[in-house]
Amino acid sequence: MASAARLDLDGNAIKPMTICMIGAGGFIGSHLCEKLTAETMHKVLAVDVYNDKIRHLLEPATHSWSDRIQFHRINIKHDSRLEGLIKMADLTVNLAAICTPADYNTRPLDTIYSNFIDALPVVKYCSENNKRLIHFSTCEVYGKTIGSFLPKDSPLRQDPAYYLLKEDASPCIFGSIEKQRWSYACAKQLIERLIYAEGAENGLEFTIVRPFNWIGPRMDFIPGIDGPSEGVPRVLACFSNNLLRHEPLKLVDGGQSQRTFVYIKDAIEAVLLMIDNPGRANGHIFNVGNPNNEATVKQLAEMMTEVYAKVSGEPSLEVPTVDVSSKEFYGEGYDDSDKRIPDMTIINKQLGWNPKTSLWDLLESTLTYQHRTYAEAIKEAIAKPVAS
Ligand code: NAD
Ligand code: UDP
Repeated sequence: MASAARLDLDGNAIKPMTICMIGAGGFIGSHLCEKLTAETMHKVLAVDVYNDKIRHLLEPATHSWSDRIQFHRINIKHDSRLEGLIKMADLTVNLAAICTPADYNTRPLDTIYSNFIDALPVVKYCSENNKRLIHFSTCEVYGKTIGSFLPKDSPLRQDPAYYLLKEDASPCIFGSIEKQRWSYACAKQLIERLIYAEGAENGLEFTIVRPFNWIGPRMDFIPGIDGPSEGVPRVLACFSNNLLRHEPLKLVDGGQSQRTFVYIKDAIEAVLLMIDNPGRANGHIFNVGNPNNEATVKQLAEMMTEVYAKVSGEPSLEVPTVDVSSKEFYGEGYDDSDKRIPDMTIINKQLGWNPKTSLWDLLESTLTYQHRTYAEAIKEAIAKPVAS
């Protein structure tokens, strides 16, 4: 329930503010809009080209928060209304991006334009108008770990100094230029550097967020149901789609890459702390992830198979996974991050934030949602005769 008497981490009353949220109609944006409308008195100017994932907040216009969220259908690539909205707001949160790995090597130009060029005016308008900016970057700016270059049997691979990712110390290690996978990470790195430089030279008040595999309901789309049949979303939606269709889950190059997964609802708590505590968040880059939820992609596939059988009541396939090469799955120019464990020192110290939800629990609530939302639609799609 929204309350005017919320306190910040230093015990001061939080003043309601107006937030221009760009990319508000996406996965993270939809959860942040929900949180801000339900639990705060902040006002949201929600900017996106789509609003399907926040329609429940916009309609009917009789919710208690209706006058605190406004949707603006704007493509930030070319719309002069953007500067006006940023000027009207106290804070801009920029989430807009192309951020699905299947696009990085197949649409590298769109990826670079979206993650760097299109973000430039947002940074410029914030800087020129003395407005605070929270910009969403990615854990992928770290690229590969130092440890990945050691021999496979080197004991140093077990030493955190060779894999733990620290905002203020770790290098950014990308593959060669023909590995176009890194177009995204490189564009995100350059926009981070630009924002940092605006802070250093022109006093821009900024916070940079590096999400580490945030997952949960409404992430991406299910191909052929609420997205293109040939589309390749991120791993949670790919595996959900396989489970819903009773197909084996595809393990790219054996599924040996490691990730840490954090529940979207835990991660949104961290973003709200940043919004409400500018004095503690400004000038910082924050890893936001759950170091305790590490799994190889193969382990993730196995756990999702087990959880899905539990929540759907349907038996698992006898052979639940199948190996595919990255070239076959993503095409030329794919490459991968080997391991991603966030160091949590800075976010702990500045905001006292810690994730709570275990991998099993977050998969249970997410797959319950996927089953409830899509199982019937998939059955109908499978039953439909294919047009000749
Ligand atoms: P998403 O694709 O669900 O959301 C992005 C939103 O931005 C979409 O709704 C899209 O329509 C909108 N958008 C893109 N270009 C736009 C434009 N030109 N004009 C207006 N709107 C535009 O992705 P997400 O998972 O919510 O990610 C949000 C941000 O967080 C991105 O910057 C992404 O790089 C970053 N990130 C997310 C994760 C994660 O775990 N989800 C990991 C690393 C980084
Ligand atoms: N992956 C996989 N099968 C799939 C989809 C993804 O094995 O159907 C792998 C992918 O190669 C990567 C990991 O899962 O190693 C995570 O992929 P995701 O798309 O979620 O994004 P990333 O974490 O690489 O940014």
